[in-house]
Amino acid sequence: MLVRFWGTRGSIPVAMTSAEVKRKLVTALVAAAGRGLDTPGKARAFVEGELEFSVSHTFGGNSSCVQLDPGDGDYVLCDLGSGARVLGNNVLATRGPRGHRFHVFMSHLHWDHIMGFPFFMPAYLPGNRIRIYGCHAALEEAFRRQHAAPSFPVDFGRLGADIEFITLEPGRDYEIAGLRVRGKRQLHGGDSYGYRFEMGGKVVIYSTDSEHKRDDPAETDAFVEFFRDADLVIFDAMYSLAEAISVKEDWGHSSNIVGVELCQLARVKHLCLFHHEPINDDATIARILRETRRLEEITRRGRGLEVSAAYDGLEIAV
Ligand SMILES: [Zn+2]
Ligand SMILES: [Zn+2]
Repeated sequence: MLVRFWGTRGSIPVAMTSAEVKRKLVTALVAAAGRGLDTPGKARAFVEGELEFSVSHTFGGNSSCVQLDPGDGDYVLCDLGSGARVLGNNVLATRGPRGHRFHVFMSHLHWDHIMGFPFFMPAYLPGNRIRIYGCHAALEEAFRRQHAAPSFPVDFGRLGADIEFITLEPGRDYEIAGLRVRGKRQLHGGDSYGYRFEMGGKVVIYSTDSEHKRDDPAETDAFVEFFRDADLVIFDAMYSLAEAISVKEDWGHSSNIVGVELCQLARVKHLCLFHHEPINDDATIARILRETRRLEEITRRGRGLEVSAAYDGLEIAV
């Protein structure tokens, strides 16, 4: 199964500023001095092989949207943040306008997780089928409301695709699009739900917008069980630990440190830091990733935990 990240930023989409573009260019040009990069091929090899990721790339600006590609033609998505716009356009450009089936699992209905849907072009075209699953009673209402006047010019009723909302019960196993799926309630304003996906012996967890209280052993145990032996955990690491337990306590998000702890306890193979704080620039996210990898090294018990930071365009094979 291939996991593709279309939107990885938390709370609100962000664009890289021109000051940041300039800073990257200056760093790259200084690093390239005297290297004779006089062809696109040489320059590309230098950018890909020698520049730091935070100089040559960006962690991306779209809000949450992740695709699980089991390889059989159906689209399985988690959340419809602004990254869904890019995914929808990509589907139409590469596979034509119609005949697509989408299965979407919603963590919750906060704006940053639904805002891509009005710009998700397959929804406007007859011949496409969209199933939106979630554990919130207000699932359908939230999507219809964001399309309603005076907030948006095209009413939900005018969408051409065959769209259906399906409420799931947390803690229960479902077989959907060839995957076994189970939801788990998480601590977040108005609740959020994580999903455990299993297929062909591989396990992927999508767990965003989830705060973890360190003084509740029963909850910790429940999450360790939920994450147990996963190949990949996509984890809300919006805050630093200091923020998560002080000024931003009860804001409904978690930290890289808690992610490492839970994944080590659950014997997870790969932790992917997700839902990046909008204030953090690329250098800051790269520093958080370095620190997280260092923490994993010094606290390692037995098998190592691979750690990465999600960016728009990242693909992880599990
Ligand atoms: Zn969010
Ligand atoms: Zn939220």
